[in-house]
Amino acid sequence: MNDKNIITIEELELKKKEKKKQLEHDSIIFYAMVALGIFNCHFIDVTTKSTLQKQAISIIDNAYEYIKNDSSTEEINYKLVNSFRKLGMTKDTQKEKRVIDIAKKNSIEYIQDLQDLQDSKNDNISEEYIKEKAIKKLRISFSRHMQSITLMEFYRLYLEELARWKRSTAKIPRKAHIPLYGRTFLIKTGMLNVPHTIDQIETHLPCKGLLPTQLFGCQCSMVLVTVSEEVYETFIKNMFRR
Ligand SMILES: [Zn+2]
Repeated sequence: MNDKNIITIEELELKKKEKKKQLEHDSIIFYAMVALGIFNCHFIDVTTKSTLQKQAISIIDNAYEYIKNDSSTEEINYKLVNSFRKLGMTKDTQKEKRVIDIAKKNSIEYIQDLQDLQDSKNDNISEEYIKEKAIKKLRISFSRHMQSITLMEFYRLYLEELARWKRSTAKIPRKAHIPLYGRTFLIKTGMLNVPHTIDQIETHLPCKGLLPTQLFGCQCSMVLVTVSEEVYETFIKNMFRR
């Protein structure tokens, strides 16, 4: 890659504005990251956590009600869908249904875990611990869903453009991704070479290690080659300041 191909910060700001107009979403994740030509799992995770923590607690607190009685969960559904809209979902009934399904699935698992605890009479584990674990698990499920949505948007905007795989910012980077650090690829052929849906990203591709998000705890980035090192470094620094 020749230096003259790297666009300046001023040019990048213009390009960002241009990309903002093409975004299907209205959120900080898409403005601060996708419009800039960056995809990073950790940023989505941190943003999702701060935005959806209250909803996750509320769902787990009301887990019995949540799975038993649809009318009593209307308020939670409303808050949940609204928060996801803030994060970047469009008004899309299918995607909203998926978010509510995630909440219900996690509620069922939480109640099952409580039941198992009572059956096992294990004094070393408290109900509080089971609850904290359930909130965390639910929050992670939301985050992974958000990562899928964001990844699809990144693909849509930058198909056929060149990107570079950036090393993980995780304390324990995923080994399968280390050989990919610094590699340049065409968005499409080097990663996913078939049209795909959110469900395919979530269910079929994970663990193959082909994309950031596919390995749990991966904090790698994909960055367009036109994004300068300076812009990327600033993004990462700001991310850790959040
Ligand atoms: Zn990774």
